[in-house]
This record gives sequence, C-alpha cells and structure tokens, in this order.
Amino acid sequence: MLTCSCCNQAYPETEPRWRCRCGAYLLLQSDRMFTRDALSGRPLTLWRYREALGIERDDSIVSLGEGFTPLVADALFGQPVLLKLDQLNPTGSFKDRGSTVMISKLKEWGVPEIVEDSSGNAGASVAAYARRAGIAARIFVPASTSAGKTAQIRMHGADLVRVDGSREETTRAALAAASQTFYASHNWSPYFVAGLKTLAYEICEQQDWQAPDWVVAPVGGGSLVLGLYLGFADLVRAGIIARMPRIAAVQAAVCAPVYEAWRQRLHEVPEVDKRETAAEGIAIARPVKGESILKALCESGGVALTVSEEEIWATAHLLAEKGIYVEPTSAAAPAAVRQLVEQGLVGTGSRVVVELTGMGLKATDKFLAHLGG
Ligand SMILES: *Cc1c(COP(=O)(O)O)cnc(C)c1O
Ligand SMILES: [Zn+2]
Repeated sequence: MLTCSCCNQAYPETEPRWRCRCGAYLLLQSDRMFTRDALSGRPLTLWRYREALGIERDDSIVSLGEGFTPLVADALFGQPVLLKLDQLNPTGSFKDRGSTVMISKLKEWGVPEIVEDSSGNAGASVAAYARRAGIAARIFVPASTSAGKTAQIRMHGADLVRVDGSREETTRAALAAASQTFYASHNWSPYFVAGLKTLAYEICEQQDWQAPDWVVAPVGGGSLVLGLYLGFADLVRAGIIARMPRIAAVQAAVCAPVYEAWRQRLHEVPEVDKRETAAEGIAIARPVKGESILKALCESGGVALTVSEEEIWATAHLLAEKGIYVEPTSAAAPAAVRQLVEQGLVGTGSRVVVELTGMGLKATDKFLAHLGG
C-alpha cells in the first residue's frame, strides 16, 4: 500500500502515482520481508532482498547487478572505519540502488515515458535504467552539473535539459514538464527509497549480521539516510539485529538545511539560502522529505554535522592517498568522522561505517579546475 505522509490517504500499489492528491509525498507501507534463511544461494546483488522491495513480478526487474559493493577496513583521523565503496555501483554512484527499484516499478506499471531532475548522478542512473527498460527519459539538470554526468545522460539516449539556474529552478522546470508525463523523481518516489534500504541490509549481512554502531552518510534529498533508517528498522522488527545503529548525516556548511533544522530542534526543514559548494550532490536548499529525515535522525539517536569546503577537498585528497577516488560530494561524510572523534561520539571500540557515494571520474572537470595547470 502507498500511504500519504501528510493526510494518510491510502492508494493501491498497482496504480501509477508519484504523490498524494493533497500534494504530499507517499510512503511505501508493506510487511513483506525476507528471512535470513531464504538468502543463501541467491545471487550477490541487492535483488537478493527482493521481498522487501515492493516489486510483484520477476519479469519487471530491471537490473545491472547493483549492490554488494566492498566494505573495506581502514582508518580516518585515527578512527577505525569500514568504508562502503558504493561509488562502485554500475553507473558510478549509489543512486543505482534506488533507480533499479523505481524503474522496475515503472516498468511494472507500464509507464512509457518519464521526467526527472537531478544534480547529475540520479539523472545518469535513471537514464541508464530507463533505457534498459525501454522507457523514454527526459532529464533536467542545473547548467553547472559536472560534464562527466551530463555526458553519461546523453550517452544513454535521454533527452538532457540544462537549466540555467539553481537546483531549485531545475526542479520547477521538471515539475512543469511533469504535467504532461510521469514525474519519476528520486526525491519523491517511495520505491527509490525502498531500494536504498538494501544498503542497511547489506552492511549488516557483510558483517555476519552484526549491526555497526554508527553509519556516516551525506544528506541532500535524503533518500540515502531514509533508506538506511527504514532498512535498519526492518532488520530490528524482524529480530535480525538487536538495535538501530546511529546515523550521522553530513552536509556542506554552505548549504545545510537539515543541520540547521536539527540544531534548532525543528520538526520540519525550512528552506535555507545556500552558497556554491564542491559537494554538488547534496546542494539541496530544502529536501522534500525533510520531516522524515529529522525523524530518522532522532529515532536512530543520530546527529547532523557540517563540513567546510576545505575539509571536503582535503578529505578527497586523503581518500585518494588510500587509492580511493571519489567525487567531492562523497568526501563530505568521511570528512565528518573527525568531528565524531573530537566530540567523543566514537572511539576505538566503535564500529563505524562510512558510505562513499559517487566516483571521482564523474567530476573530472572539477578536479582539473581544483588541481590547476
Ligand atoms: C545524490 C547524492 C548524494 C545525496 O543523497 P540523497 O539521497 O539525495 O540525500 C550524496 N552523494 C552523491 C555523490 C550523490 O549523487
Ligand atoms: Zn495526502
């Protein structure tokens, strides 16, 4: 069942719909869950958790073998961590976890064409999966989006629309176009979030079903943080793990609406004025699902943190020195580990997972400008 986050109106999962009639976003409510026993022998992709993903028919599934990315032991700022190399998903970002489920649902619904807006990675991911499903896609991006991402979108045959304006103006342009076609927005879709739950399942399964103490992740639109929270909540409810890990949600200091709302103990996320950040993937002035993000942070005993532009670049270098090349957006979460250490929230005994979201090759133009010469 799909239920409204605001007025509780329920809709069947068989009906193509991206928001409630009242205008609010929808939640996917389902009791279906996999059992640990059922997993043995299934392929190592996120579809091994298929019962929890809301897709009815096997022939709806549009997959590129996403998920089951490495979890690598390392240390950051003296803190032992497990780095989740989610930049190694098929299109080079974690967004594939959401796209594979959202596009499979659109295929199941028989939706022939979609519009989406993105800072780049979701657009590239949706373009790839839509093409594979035979769904025509029109992708709106801000003109400042990294060339690596726009090239990817064009190569997958999507209709790329560059909007000369902010991320927010890009969304408005996509919404206007959505009055004609289906709005397959990763920031609105409950199925996109369902796909992100697999990150929580996977982190636990890769650790022999031991939940970590902390998961550190960037937050922009919030699919990632919400998916983590809902996934861990599923595992707690099923008795597979004993308690919910704490979530540390990280933003760039120059665009930090979730951090501001969390700091002021608000229940909603008001729009903030933002400045340009190297972390283009999290430059969202007002996330659609702000209220749910704050609830996830609160119920996980989590925190919101911000990092400076200098810390983002320095951490991109730090990771590169370890042989890991991620785009600047992905350096925000590992950069914040320093504050977790300084605030005494983590120590040598804590199990800390740090999610790396997008690969460095996506932002070649930004790295060249940064390096100079
Ligand atoms: C989209 C994106 C994020 C933010 O994820 P949300 O689910 O929107 O919060 C972080 N890093 C990268 C590289 C992204 O593309
Ligand atoms: Zn409603």
